[in-house]
Amino acid sequence: MNTRNPLLIANWKMQLTVQQTVQLITELRREVRHYRGPVQLVACPSFTSLPEAHRRLVGSKIRLGAQDVFWDDRGPYTGAISPLMLRELGVEYVIVGHSERRHHLGETDDMVARKMVSALAHGLQPILCVGESTAERSQGVRETVVRRQLTEAFRSLPPPSQGRRIAVVYEPIWAIGTGMPADPDQATEMRNIIHQTLIDLYAPTLVDRQFLILYGGSVDPQNICDYIRGERFDGALVGTASLNAQTFVTMLKEVSDCLS
Ligand code: PEP
Repeated sequence: MNTRNPLLIANWKMQLTVQQTVQLITELRREVRHYRGPVQLVACPSFTSLPEAHRRLVGSKIRLGAQDVFWDDRGPYTGAISPLMLRELGVEYVIVGHSERRHHLGETDDMVARKMVSALAHGLQPILCVGESTAERSQGVRETVVRRQLTEAFRSLPPPSQGRRIAVVYEPIWAIGTGMPADPDQATEMRNIIHQTLIDLYAPTLVDRQFLILYGGSVDPQNICDYIRGERFDGALVGTASLNAQTFVTMLKEVSDCLS
């Protein structure tokens, strides 16, 4: 674990209505109002909840993220949401290349690469997801897959300028929403591969200053510290366990405790 402020990101997927989002944010704000620690919290609600979520998060310790972004600013793209529209709603972070989009919606490495360029060009902090499937792991190609996903995602990106941070999340597909998290040592092996791949692409000082490497996949209050402590991950992307304010805040406390 490095000394940079870790990220704890809630991905609420397509799980909550606007009303339910408001209720969860209200509970979260109440729970974290006295928090003074180093962890940066980010909440990623559905697109439809973003305006209300922004209103409710102003002045809080929780930053607003979106779950996807399109690569063009405007045009004939029915159903797509542009980076300009996200910025207009106060969004600061955006998840790019989540495996659920890659697998259910046919998102390719090329689309992910274009979204990365677009997000950074508009001042959105990308949260890039990479990770192998069960089949790829059993075929022994997990390293090849993750290296390819990273190299493609960053292929058109100049080195991020000073002050810009990029989060890369190692999310093995078989661990997402399954209750079967990756073994922390295996996840750390992949974290090191991601770190080395970034160093192959950019200068080591830039990687250590501007990239965060997170873990995602069935993280809960019991296991989160196994990924954070020591020279491991810089935070976590949390799906299921972020839907309950109490559980999410317990994770925040766990991370703060295991960092101190
Ligand atoms: C995710 O949505 O990226 C995720 C990791 O979900 P879960 O925590 O439910 O596995």
